[in-house]
Amino acid sequence: MALKVAIIGSGPAGFYAADALLRSDDPPVEVDMIDRLPTPWGLVRLGVAPDHENIKAVSRAFEKTAARPGFRFFGNVEVGSTVSHEELIRLYGAVVYTVGAQTDRRLGIPGEDLPGSWPATAFVAWYNGHPDFQELSFDLATERVVVIGNGNVAIDCARMLALTADELAPTDTTDPAAEAIAASPVREILMLGRRGPVQAAFTPPELKELGELAGAEPIVDANDLGLDPASLAALEADRDRAKRNYDLLQEYAGREPEGKPRRIVLRFLVSPVAILGEERVEAVEVVHNELVDEDGRIAARPTGETEVIPCGLVLRSVGYKGVPLPGVPFDEQSGTMPNEGGRVQGAERTYAAGWIKRGPSGVIGTNKKDAAETVALLLEDARAGKLASVDSTQSLEALLDEKGVRYVEYAGWQAIDAAERAAGEPRSRPRVKLASWEGLLSTGCGPGELASRRD
Ligand code: NAP
Repeated sequence: MALKVAIIGSGPAGFYAADALLRSDDPPVEVDMIDRLPTPWGLVRLGVAPDHENIKAVSRAFEKTAARPGFRFFGNVEVGSTVSHEELIRLYGAVVYTVGAQTDRRLGIPGEDLPGSWPATAFVAWYNGHPDFQELSFDLATERVVVIGNGNVAIDCARMLALTADELAPTDTTDPAAEAIAASPVREILMLGRRGPVQAAFTPPELKELGELAGAEPIVDANDLGLDPASLAALEADRDRAKRNYDLLQEYAGREPEGKPRRIVLRFLVSPVAILGEERVEAVEVVHNELVDEDGRIAARPTGETEVIPCGLVLRSVGYKGVPLPGVPFDEQSGTMPNEGGRVQGAERTYAAGWIKRGPSGVIGTNKKDAAETVALLLEDARAGKLASVDSTQSLEALLDEKGVRYVEYAGWQAIDAAERAAGEPRSRPRVKLASWEGLLSTGCGPGELASRRD
């Protein structure tokens, strides 16, 4: 008999785990993939920037996985509210959590929650058509936006804010976001890194794109590129990311400004200490930093010199953070499920892969190896007889029917996908996303009552 496994979360880690499980013949495995959204693919659909269509192409591999015998999808099913971990553990031989990191890290500074100060994750979800974020109103009526952080999400936000109407047109950015970005009076997007150019977390291809935009140009002050001995040594040690980033930054510093309508200014060694404003964001106060060695890590230490930077919008892009799920062990400090190689500690037959296992780092492909490690241990446990037989008289679909939940099956997602692609075609866009719960559910499971958890 096949081992029944539930995978919670349908992003890259979920699909890589499903693929590895469905390839097993000792034991053979059936996978039910569950997602709180009506749509699969996680951050590939709702995180990857709309102008990075080539990165989204990984979804073709996910489609192949979904076509394997034994795969089923249950969208619009939230674990923790619609169904509980305990219910799943009764129905499945094993439960694998691949839920990612659902919230943003906080800065912990005064003014962080002033209107006009947003987590970058919300901005990303808004321009990508996440149905929970379409009511947000990003006021882009400002000349300067400050993006805090030096990772790839910060770069994505800075670049998206800098795209012209022509650059946005062939993407699947939502219409309201594309219109707001193209029409905004933004002249300067300021990215603030708390450490130096060698420690920046963004990657060279993303940095390179900033120099290739139609309506915006990168601005770097050569004085910001001076290196302390520790950074010089780090540059020597990392000839790939750090060296290529540094070379690009030097090239940008040497460029004569062309006077393009928007500027993306990259600054280093500055930390925000307060977000200022009466009713809403008016400025960011920063402190200048110097780099010091802290137990072998190059860390930023404030010098005491401060500066106030006027701006009308702040995007805080300092990383994602995992959130706990009822009934499943969680480590607050790391924002992950405590685990050894993907076996969740303190919970029977429970596993984790992706960001909820290792924290929010790495690129999409990183999750393949990560998921393979988890699946190898799961299959080892199955072969050792540790994944007890389950209640075969019950099924998830019967449980959901009992609860009156309308779920979206894989065929329902395919209907959403087809509708979106058809809407995109006349406009030469990959798709026009359905960005409301109503639109997604009526296309994904036909007309009728909205699912109970939305009532
Ligand atoms: P990230 O790469 O971890 O970057 C977070 C940034 O925030 C770092 O520069 C960090 O600086 C800074 N930071 C943290 N706390 C701060 C504070 N209190 N004050 C000021 N700055 C602070 O996270 P991310 O950008 O959210 O990206 C998450 C993952 O997704 C990464 O692995 C990323 O590469 C990946 N991603 C990839 C792509 C792509 O491939 N195109 C696109 C988006 C995301 P320190 O280094 O000093 O801590």
